[in-house]
Amino acid sequence: MEHLEITRAKVHLQKENPFFSYLIMNLNIIKTEDIPSCAVDNKGNLYYNPKWVKEMDIAELKGVLAHEVMHLVLEHLERGRNKEHEIYNIATDLVINCILINNSFKLPKGLIPYNNSFEFKDEKGMVLFEIEDLDKKSADEVYNEIIKHQKKKEKDSIGTNGKSRFDEHKYGNGKKKANGNGKDERKEQAELKKKWKKVFGEASVYAKQQGKLPVGIDRLIDIVLNEKISWKSLLYKYITNELPFDYTYCLDENTKIKTPRGECKIKNLKQGRYVLGYKNNKIVYSKIKSKFTSQIKEKYIIETIKGNKIVCSGTHRILTKRGYVRASELNKKDIIFGVEKLK
Ligand SMILES: [Zn+2]
Repeated sequence: MEHLEITRAKVHLQKENPFFSYLIMNLNIIKTEDIPSCAVDNKGNLYYNPKWVKEMDIAELKGVLAHEVMHLVLEHLERGRNKEHEIYNIATDLVINCILINNSFKLPKGLIPYNNSFEFKDEKGMVLFEIEDLDKKSADEVYNEIIKHQKKKEKDSIGTNGKSRFDEHKYGNGKKKANGNGKDERKEQAELKKKWKKVFGEASVYAKQQGKLPVGIDRLIDIVLNEKISWKSLLYKYITNELPFDYTYCLDENTKIKTPRGECKIKNLKQGRYVLGYKNNKIVYSKIKSKFTSQIKEKYIIETIKGNKIVCSGTHRILTKRGYVRASELNKKDIIFGVEKLK
């Protein structure tokens, strides 16, 4: 059984931060007293010591959950396998904490960047070097930078001035399993990588629909999914099955839609209800497969002679006498198709 406080943190996140909440749903959370605080492994297991969790307040716990899951999304435990773990641990934590701080998360004391930078100091508090622009760098880049500085200084200590990290990172070894049950770790890792890519894509789309995509995630989509951000294609890729049409055809949430039970505002419509549709030159009732929110950059207001108004995006298609026309391409001569009553 997972600690009550962890469940509480998850519930909070669900309301506030759909992106991290979606990711965290995919973690396997395990209670253990074998570690002092918490740890994450490359299989998606998050281990925590209940005594340590007790010391955290709920805001810090939310930060910890988001921190651990980002190690998986950014493939840190796989990428850092052959690197100097002590330094890679610091580099990955700095990059993750920077994202979280920029999204107003609270974190337990430790390696917390300030203004997207982190100063490495010696025991006396003298600055040895500084890593800047953490919000624009990957953990690998930060790692290389720390290594370079370290060589120059010929110092043994990494220079975090007594500040310690709060979690453990359990790296995979990429070797064949000793128990010989057939599947070597590399293969398993490739499957996990695929899973987390998918989860990341879904989480991004899920958050974007609610207009709550965290700061800095746009940039990560490029890196994690290897694609330049095209929300349209991401939406297609991750929720195609539920999407009956192009998401860019947007209507204002207050638009009244005809249903068998009379007119209803879009915002009040629910999945499974029927609305008026147009198919094969016929007016029909179609079932709502899914409902989602998107952000319209430009609003078009179409007013008819009778005084009816439609607020929509420029790409929303309006049925007219000359066929479907984008709202942005309508002109005053167009006659909009309307239905008074459906028999
Ligand atoms: Zn960490």
